[in-house]
Amino acid sequence: MSDDLLTIEQALALVLEHATPLDAEEVALADAAGRVLAEPARSAVDLPPFPSSAMDGFALRAGDTPGTLPVVARIAAGRPAPRSLEPGEAMAISTGGVVPDGADSVVPIELVEERDEGDTVVITGNVVTADNVRHRGGDLREGDLVVGAGIRLGPAHVGALAASGVTRVHCTRVPRVAILVTGSELRAPGEQLEPGQIYDANGFILAAQLRSTGAEVDRLPPVADDEAATRAAIERGLADDVLVTTGGVSVGVHDLVRATEAELGVEEIFWRVAMQPGKPVAFGVRGRTLVFGLPGNPVSSLVGFELFVRPALLALQGLADPKPRFRPGRLGAPAKRLAARDALLRARTRVDGDAVVLDPLSGQQSHMIAQASAADALVLVPQGEGELAAGSPVSYLQL
Ligand code: AMP
Ligand code: MG
Repeated sequence: MSDDLLTIEQALALVLEHATPLDAEEVALADAAGRVLAEPARSAVDLPPFPSSAMDGFALRAGDTPGTLPVVARIAAGRPAPRSLEPGEAMAISTGGVVPDGADSVVPIELVEERDEGDTVVITGNVVTADNVRHRGGDLREGDLVVGAGIRLGPAHVGALAASGVTRVHCTRVPRVAILVTGSELRAPGEQLEPGQIYDANGFILAAQLRSTGAEVDRLPPVADDEAATRAAIERGLADDVLVTTGGVSVGVHDLVRATEAELGVEEIFWRVAMQPGKPVAFGVRGRTLVFGLPGNPVSSLVGFELFVRPALLALQGLADPKPRFRPGRLGAPAKRLAARDALLRARTRVDGDAVVLDPLSGQQSHMIAQASAADALVLVPQGEGELAAGSPVSYLQL
């Protein structure tokens, strides 16, 4: 490789080396959706806790069928029978009712004929033992693992934990992430643009990206390219678990971020990665705070976040597999390779047979956030000579 830049994989490995899981805290189950388990959660009960009926019907012994049986009790969900079932008897039962001792099967109501105003039931067919009985512990046994460590709790997970009688879980702390956009040219949308000014896009992009990682966003007021202001803002951001800045990490005289961070004790781990867009990305640490310097062009910032910041935030939360998940696809059109840098093209996916085809968008320059906003994927075009032909296998990252 020319230029001695780190590859994306090398840079990511350095980030993940420093992104060790945050401390765990106890969280009430009602607040746990979206959080990542720091410790495995185990069931407090057998699930189901008793043999229960899968149908509305009649509990009986399969051996007593076919036959005509007296209905000696009515069982509802939450209202078990007062006694065991004796041979030759049936009990009416609702879905979720406790299958009484002595019964081994449930016949659905659709398959019987009720007589004597429901005091007798006629079963003409043969019943198979255990039909329509959900066995105690058939889903889980008390003490069994419900959800493992390193898993983000989704709706089904919190449901399984609730069903298992779990009230509190151990989760990694939610990372608090400061966003600092830098640049004297930046104005907030809605303000009047004076000559040379543009609207801040990065603060909005980053806040949205961060929210989707499960992080808490600490959005600092934007700063001009001024040493004192930059220093004060960075100092503030360094109090969080992660500081993400945009702009000011290139080689211009107004690019103050790295130098200011160095003065504030940030140890730079790397600066510049062999990629396009986003080459001047910087990463450092101060104590346990991770510090990312993303370039100012909005698409560079967006891509740098997906490749390095998102994985770091997932790792801080203790997720089992924090790396970007590249998937196999095929190029829908030729793509030029760069001699010394991996390119990440903004593309749209479509499905063709059993392949995902990636159509690169027009307008691939790193300031073109409006063009990029139509993309749902980033295609990795590895550095090299010439171009990749249409149909070439590539890997891509879903946005
Ligand atoms: P820089 O990395 O500071 O040299 O900025 C590179 C380019 O990105 C410049 O054209 C900046 O005006 C632009 N830029 C920087 N920050 C932002 C932002 N927050 N939103 C939109 N464009 C930005
Ligand atoms: Mg700037």
